[in-house]
Amino acid sequence: MRKITKGQPPDSFLNWVRSKPASKNENQWFQELYTQKQWGIIADLSNKCAQEQFYICAYCCDHITGASTDTVNEHVEARAIAQASSLKYTNIVASCKTKGQCDASHKSQHLPLTPLMAECETEFKFKISGRVEGTTSRAEKTIEVLNLGDNERNNKALIEKRKQLTDNLLWTNGINPEEGLEDDDLLQDLVENLLIPKEGKLDPFAPVVANILRSWIAA
Ligand SMILES: [Zn+2]
Repeated sequence: MRKITKGQPPDSFLNWVRSKPASKNENQWFQELYTQKQWGIIADLSNKCAQEQFYICAYCCDHITGASTDTVNEHVEARAIAQASSLKYTNIVASCKTKGQCDASHKSQHLPLTPLMAECETEFKFKISGRVEGTTSRAEKTIEVLNLGDNERNNKALIEKRKQLTDNLLWTNGINPEEGLEDDDLLQDLVENLLIPKEGKLDPFAPVVANILRSWIAA
């Protein structure tokens, strides 16, 4: 994961929040966006969130466009267990729509480690194999809740995709994934470069590769 810094909500969503009738609670009023087919506001939300995230999923870091074909507005604190936070823009992120993981796996479960917390960049340990481990119990729980690929039995597709794209990014940066790299200064430069958006976009899984490279520096 990469820490997300939330900006200002889109005006259309702000106006929607302000127009909430007293008869509806926050969760119901968010749901009304979909019941009333307010596709313009829904699209403004996911476009703004995707832009803030440099077009990668809040959870798995795969590419998202911000359009409804592959992107969904996701509540970090699920609406069912945090009703009052349903209209808080700071609780809404853009998730991919991949079956069996991220938003689709989260549902209404508690998420103990989130992309709104700085520790989301250090408490996951990504492997060259494509797998991920938690270094804390809350990270382990989060991997389970979002099904982020701790082993092939749970999410083979994500592990394979992550390995392939990670290998590609390493080769692009002149590193043989099998051999690694021992030059700490060069590794540090690569990490920084990977995390700088190019034309507002990060490469899919760039934070994953940065996480792997950092572990080589520490080793
Ligand atoms: Zn995802």
